[in-house]
Amino acid sequence: MGKKDRRTPRTAFVTLRDMPGTRVMFWVVDDCPYCGERHLHLAGHLRSADPGETLGEYPAPCDPARSYELALPPRPKRKQGKEARRKARREGRSEVLDEEW
Ligand SMILES: [Zn+2]
Repeated sequence: MGKKDRRTPRTAFVTLRDMPGTRVMFWVVDDCPYCGERHLHLAGHLRSADPGETLGEYPAPCDPARSYELALPPRPKRKQGKEARRKARREGRSEVLDEEW
């Protein structure tokens, strides 16, 4: 409890960007928890399914032996603990599913 496990992936906050002239979206890690550099991960196509589904754990491009978890940055209004973050992720997912209504 409370101990940091070295194998636990660090959280890397991402922003969603699209590439001009294409329908491809990327998750941009502006500040890699391992090297501090910027990394890009393919998030999918604009017309395709929920890009939120492509969040999650990925090997870090700068160090394939480690991985990090792509996550949306916490919203500034609230302090968020682990539980709240999980909840937010669930809510985020259901927001994206709204298009099915
Ligand atoms: Zn890195």
